[in-house]
Amino acid sequence: MPQISIISEDVCAQVVTPEAAFAAVEGVFAAMARGEARNFPVVREALGHADALYGFKSGFDKTGMALGLKSGGFWPGNISLGLTNHQSTIFLFDPDTGQLQALVGGNYLTAIRTAAASSVSIAHLARKDAKVLGMVGAGHQSTFQLRAAARQRDFDKVVAWNPHPDMLPKLAAVAAELGLPFEAVDRESLGAQADVIITITSAFEPLMLRDWIKPGTHIACMGTDTKGKQEVDSHLLAAAAVFTDEVAQSVSLGEAQHAISAGLIQEGDITPLGTVINGTHQGRASSDQITLFDGTGVGLQDLAVAHVAMRAAQAQGLGASVTL
Ligand code: NAD
Repeated sequence: MPQISIISEDVCAQVVTPEAAFAAVEGVFAAMARGEARNFPVVREALGHADALYGFKSGFDKTGMALGLKSGGFWPGNISLGLTNHQSTIFLFDPDTGQLQALVGGNYLTAIRTAAASSVSIAHLARKDAKVLGMVGAGHQSTFQLRAAARQRDFDKVVAWNPHPDMLPKLAAVAAELGLPFEAVDRESLGAQADVIITITSAFEPLMLRDWIKPGTHIACMGTDTKGKQEVDSHLLAAAAVFTDEVAQSVSLGEAQHAISAGLIQEGDITPLGTVINGTHQGRASSDQITLFDGTGVGLQDLAVAHVAMRAAQAQGLGASVTL
């Protein structure tokens, strides 16, 4: 009889450290680039109920032996119920038998794996002497993004802008906790000051223009994960060396969708970040090149961190288990 681990949101937050999430996401990006891990087609549908979007992201990582899916989506009315509007659960299966191994809460893991993706991009692509971190966005994901980025470079300041300025104090509080001076600025000033920029909004139009970004900047575009969304000027992608988690998602639902459809870049101009991790692509070519990471969010990231949660919870005797 298979034993199934049930791992709650609280246990995930207890056992999955940012360092472990970074290693898991870096490892799975590398495995994807070697052709040892692949994401299966994403299902995403409007339910026609509660204004919700619901779907599945699934895949198999032969290196990490992670097989499974994340199921969930977006329920906009949840805020009024005191719940997170993004809801998800991860299912892990035994790749040898197909038997269910674990049910893992996916909300904390989504935030920490998304933050890990941008921080992996910073680790591999940002200039080593980056000093100013620019944050565009101040919602739920932004504080995870800020915490993870701060581990990658010796930043001495955070500059931030958000379309809803009343959300910025939460981000400022995290910067203060990290010992980083924080300044709310306008977008042009953010571009002029920042050496690394993270965009993490629900925007449907460019928030950052090409001419505002200085040479040598690394920008991680993390908010665009659906057709129609957009956070930066398409001309910025044409001016930058563009990297991504998965090229197929980047061109269809990621930040690159707009530059591709405008004919400003081609699919072949986009490099999987995993090739940089594996050392088969040089990454940043010069200190004044602009590098851009299109972080679309793949199911394999979820499976990688859920695996970490399962193994750590089992090792520490945390979580529940049932026999199926
Ligand atoms: P949130 O609802 O907590 O915050 C939304 C953010 O976007 C806030 O900064 C808000 O001010 C801003 N915003 C809202 N509507 C906007 C609009 N019309 N134009 C410009 N900005 C707008 O959301 P969150 O959980 O912080 O997620 C932020 C974004 O990241 C979402 O779009 C989400 O889908 C995306 N996301 C991406 C990944 C990935 O892997 N790439 C993972 C999780 C979330």
